[in-house]
Formats: sequence, structure tokens, C-alpha cells
Amino acid sequence: MSLDVAAIREQFPILKREIDGKPLIYLDNAATTQKPQCVIDALVEYYTQYNSNVHRGAHRLADEATRKFEGARDIIKDFINAPKREEVIWTSGTTEGINMIANGLAKLLTASDEVIVTGMEHHANIVTWQQACKAAGATLHTVPVTDKGELDLEVYSSLLNENTKLVAFPHVSNSLGTVNPIKWMTEQAKRVDAWVLVDGAQGIAHGNVDVQDIGCDFYAFSGHKIYGPMGVGVLWGRADLLAQWPVWQTGGEMIATVTLQDATWNVLPYRLEAGTPNVGDAIALGEAIRWFDALDHADVAAHEQALMTRATELAKDFEGLRMIGEAEDKVGAFSFVLDEGHPADIGFLLDRQGIAIRTGDHCAQPLMARFNVPGTARMSFSIYNTLDEVEQFFAALKKVRMMLA
Ligand code: PLP
Repeated sequence: MSLDVAAIREQFPILKREIDGKPLIYLDNAATTQKPQCVIDALVEYYTQYNSNVHRGAHRLADEATRKFEGARDIIKDFINAPKREEVIWTSGTTEGINMIANGLAKLLTASDEVIVTGMEHHANIVTWQQACKAAGATLHTVPVTDKGELDLEVYSSLLNENTKLVAFPHVSNSLGTVNPIKWMTEQAKRVDAWVLVDGAQGIAHGNVDVQDIGCDFYAFSGHKIYGPMGVGVLWGRADLLAQWPVWQTGGEMIATVTLQDATWNVLPYRLEAGTPNVGDAIALGEAIRWFDALDHADVAAHEQALMTRATELAKDFEGLRMIGEAEDKVGAFSFVLDEGHPADIGFLLDRQGIAIRTGDHCAQPLMARFNVPGTARMSFSIYNTLDEVEQFFAALKKVRMMLA
């Protein structure tokens, strides 16, 4: 069976929009995905039917909100194959999840410890560890990126040693689309007993994420990259680690007892969820994942691969186009520069033709420096994109290049 893209598109109201009289071609999915009607409905239902704070209410609305909120946690647990529901921590997104772990790590590191990240990180997965290492006087190493846009795995292996405390890397690069061999990388890190955090912001919507199979310790992702709302995300972590991890924010919900002098902490997941959670968005994220998980994953992968393959073919024949990132295993994001014009000009002129892409450094300045470009133009695919849209993109790009010449 192949993915019924027409039926999927019908469920996304925004895809019916026109931009200056032209049908919207939305190719900025690595920045954020659009939302199906069922996710929008879940949010509206929450705010119109049972908006309430969770866990401590003595009334019907609070009961309903708590049931759906905790139910959404179960949906996430099953989706990523987490062993335990209390390992699923609600966050505001990938950035907060990584900060939670980095903030705690800063308190656990000593000056002789080492942390490894890669040269293809989003700033969320590098600045955080820089700060943690600086606070502790520990050393931060980075894995170089090859000309093809893959990680240099030989260097990675050679960097691992008994001082390596934690390794963090992206599941999928947001700039290049490179799919990293995260299971293999985790196995290598485990040989030296290092903790592993996977930045799943771009991986979550494009693969079967099974945290037990990967073998990592932490996996962070954002709801808005997988058809859910903005402002909600998940940090999954191994229960034995999270139960001991230095607490992140303090306040309501995360405490067990409080006196005027001191406090004790709640059990997981609450000890890492201070304050009123983002209830409505968490419920809507549960709905997004229920919706997405009902699709055939092999069909999803085949469709996304077809989009990437066609884009690559057309790009190779396109005069003056330099692809940035030609990894063997690539999904979602497709970056390039043209011989004529700055990426920002390309984005502007494509927008005039109804095409939404992203231009700039993609929050990955070290990677842009590695490829010696100020930024790239990036189109990024989702399940509702069509081969016809890819063709239209390159036809529009031809016009852009002529205008810029
Ligand atoms: N990591 C990667 C690879 C990303 O692509 C992004 C967002 O684009 C982030 C982290 C940060 O995600 P958020 O801004 O949703 O926290």
C-alpha cells in the first residue's frame, strides 16, 4: 500500500490556504509541522469542555483533565516504547528537555570529565553542553562532519574514553537531513559507560523511535515537529537516572513535603515537572501522536524517501545549485545554495510564488562555518507533501535564479 497523501492533506485545513492567489506549498516542516483537524479539535475541546488544572482538583473538570493529560503520557510511552510511563517528562520542547539534563549534568561533572557533541548540532544541543562543561571545568569535544555531511565516526570512536561522561547527538540533522547511526553510536558510548542523550527534534516524525532498541539514556523531542502544538514536548529518560537527577526547576507539583526550612521531592515524573503543566497542549500532542501512529510507518518512510529522491535528482540537474549535505541516509531536510543570490533572497522570491521554505543558519552556525556558507536555503518535507510540489519547487527556483542572475 502507498500513503494516501490526498486523504492526509484533506485533514490539514491550512493546506487549503492561498498565498497571493497561489496555492500554498509548505516546505518548512523541519521548522514546524502543520496540524491536522483532530489536533485542533482536541485543543478546542479542552478549552471549551474541561479546561482545568490537573491532579489536585476535587471536581469533574479536573478529573477529566487529569485523565486525558495522563492518558496522553501513556500514548507517548507506547509510541517511543518507553519501559515506564513515569519516564515520560512533559517539557516545553526539545530545548527545555536538553537544558533539564545539561543543567543537572553541570552539577555532576568534575574537571576531569569529558562530554562529546557533534559538529552538526542545533544550538540547543551544543550551547547547553558548553555551559555545563564551563560550569564544571570539564572538556567538551566535537565530532567533525565530513564533506558529505555525515559524522566522522572514526573520530567519534577515538574520542570516547573512560572520562567520557555524556555523549549528545542529533537523531537527524535539521540542516542537512543526515540520519545518524544512533544505535551504533550509543553502543560505542556504552562501552565506556557514558550516558547518551539523543536530540530527537527532527527524528521523532521520521522514524520508528524505540528508545529501548536505541539503548540511549535520554531522548528529547518537541510536539510541534510531529503535528502537535507548540509549547509542549517530551524528555524521555531512564527511570533510575531521572529519579536521581538533580532537580531542574523547583516549585509546586515537584515537591513531596515543604517546611519553612527545606523540602523533599516528589516521585517521577512529577519531580521534574514543576508548576502547572501545559495541559491542553499535552493532550493535543497525545492526539497528534495517536493520529500519526495510525499511519503505516513503512508507507510514511517510503513516501518521504520518494520526495527526497526526486528532489535530489532535480537538484543534481539544476544549474548553479550546490547541495549542502549528501549523506547516504537522509530524511526531511534538503539544504542548498545557488551561485546567484543569498539564501534570504531565494526564500523571499519563492514566497512570492506561494512556496514556504526556511533560509539562514538554521540555528547551526558551526555547521554553516564548516561548509563555508553564510546559511542555506532549506526545503523540508512532511507526509502531506507531494511529488508534484517538488517539481513545482524546482520550476519556481528556476525563475528565482533567472531573477537573481
Ligand atoms: N534540535 C534540533 C535538531 C532542532 O531541529 C530543533 C528545532 O528546530 C531543536 C533542537 C529545538 O527545538 P525547539 O525549538 O522546539 O525546542
